[in-house]
Amino acid sequence: MRIGILGGTFDPVHIGHLVAAVNARDELVLDKVLMVVANQPWQKIGVRTIAPAEIRLKMLSEAVKGIHGISACDIEIKRGGLSYTADTVSAVKKMYLPDEIYLLVGADVASELSTWERVEEFQKDVQLVVISRPSEHVDGSLSCHSCMEEEKLAGNLLGWRASSMAIPALYISSSMIRERVRNKKSLDFLVPPSVIDIIIANRLYC
Ligand code: ATP
Ligand code: MG
Repeated sequence: MRIGILGGTFDPVHIGHLVAAVNARDELVLDKVLMVVANQPWQKIGVRTIAPAEIRLKMLSEAVKGIHGISACDIEIKRGGLSYTADTVSAVKKMYLPDEIYLLVGADVASELSTWERVEEFQKDVQLVVISRPSEHVDGSLSCHSCMEEEKLAGNLLGWRASSMAIPALYISSSMIRERVRNKKSLDFLVPPSVIDIIIANRLYC
């Protein structure tokens, strides 16, 4: 059993998340990619309003319906409280008894790894995979690379068994989707139709 964990707030899920998940599934030959919805993302609390966990889970569940090997995972919601990857890895180990766990993170998250809690508890249990993600420079230009080398130099990948994975560059974020809702811009082709329906029905991000 080879399991991938792609954690996130998914507020809301968008095609960048889905393209990352299916590419990881295929390239790493994973039996399952668990897209784990953070109950209370400790990095984002107090910074902005976050949609209720149950609604974020519902959007993700609809988005991955029928996609082979990809599932919406509610273990952090069921656990309640603040969501820490250390507890999630430990739960996944118990639930699936996997041969290998791949922790999938976008390049932006890779640069924050040194701030994560209790990494020493699970660092040896997972292979870290840094997924390429475009980022914007102050002058508005975009670049897309996995940042592996930079992160290694900065010491952010110290202690991890890490590799990088390039996926089609999609300059999309949940922040951008929320802003588009506020500005009444179309979400077509950026998030699945079922997710648009849930956003409208629950008047999210207005
Ligand atoms: P927000 O703007 O609210 O932070 P987000 O788009 O970054 O939202 P998250 O839920 O924070 O979404 O991200 C979950 C995971 O998916 C992270 O590891 C993140 O790096 C990765 N990810 C998100 N969007 C992309 C994308 N377009 N390409 C590659 N990886 C992505
Ligand atoms: Mg993010």
